[in-house]
Amino acid sequence: MPRKDILDSIQKYVQPFRIMKGQGFRLKNYDPGDTCGLKLEKGEASELLQQGTEWLAQEQDMLYAQDRWSLLLVFQAMDAAGKDSTIKHVMSGVNPQGCQVFSFKQPSQEDLSHDFLWRYYKCLPERGRIGIFNRSYYEEVLVVRVHEEILKRQKMPEPLVSRRIWDERLADIDHFEEYLTRQGVIILKFFLQVSREEQKKRFMKRLDTPEKNWKFSASDVHERKFWDDYMHAYEEAIRATASKNAPWFVVPADNKWFTRLVVADAIVEAVEQLDLAYPKVDAEKKKEMATMRAALAREP
Ligand code: ATP
Ligand code: MG
Repeated sequence: MPRKDILDSIQKYVQPFRIMKGQGFRLKNYDPGDTCGLKLEKGEASELLQQGTEWLAQEQDMLYAQDRWSLLLVFQAMDAAGKDSTIKHVMSGVNPQGCQVFSFKQPSQEDLSHDFLWRYYKCLPERGRIGIFNRSYYEEVLVVRVHEEILKRQKMPEPLVSRRIWDERLADIDHFEEYLTRQGVIILKFFLQVSREEQKKRFMKRLDTPEKNWKFSASDVHERKFWDDYMHAYEEAIRATASKNAPWFVVPADNKWFTRLVVADAIVEAVEQLDLAYPKVDAEKKKEMATMRAALAREP
């Protein structure tokens, strides 16, 4: 298929889920079961996914060679939405040398002794690299917002903790992302939106399948009680931080194959817009190369 046609089809699966302006955003307008009419059985989906991952691998090679832009991919989701497997599939063709994944869990004592962005800042991708945040600084306005006792552990000076703290943190994140964008970091943020029912099914499967037992955690089930609080926190976060430079993608996550397709296509589309090319060799370098070539050819 010609590149132009592939790009058109990519657009089709990215555009409906991209949020570049927070105003008026409502999570309930997005369906976790959406597949844009695609059906897995028809084979079209797996072909599209393969095209996306192959294209991404090519673009990453140029990103690395150019050594100017970097890409920060933020993944957020409720448990069992498929963050890990999406990352694994989408990045499957990519050269591991140009890519780093960081999974953020409970903060350490050292993390808690610093400002909230500190531990994430240290993990930002170098120029030419793709950095993947499996959970991110957004946890600071999600899990910490839902369970305010976590905030108490953050050693904040008391006068600075007011009811405005979440809006303040969201504004700080927004500015932080704007700063990074101005430095050449392309930021894409994915919220893999799984439905509560599908999450239940996946937890059940973890309980019923011996090979999946290790993934089961009682606290994940406990966390379901706070579902609405989480959705509220996600909605507020997306509203406050969706922008043209750092868009959110609310990716339907009830069908894993569709999640992968949308994520891969969103990354391809963003990188494609950079118009990457391999660095050009100047005249002097060309001369040097010609000399070297001649020398190599002369070798016995
Ligand atoms: P998986 O369950 O697929 O292995 P995960 O990302 O859910 O991946 P877990 O070890 O299960 O990893 O959970 C990590 C936990 O750490 C999550 O419950 C998350 O909310 C929590 N967490 C992440 N960042 C913070 C933070 N800044 N403060 C407090 N808790 C956090
Ligand atoms: Mg977990």
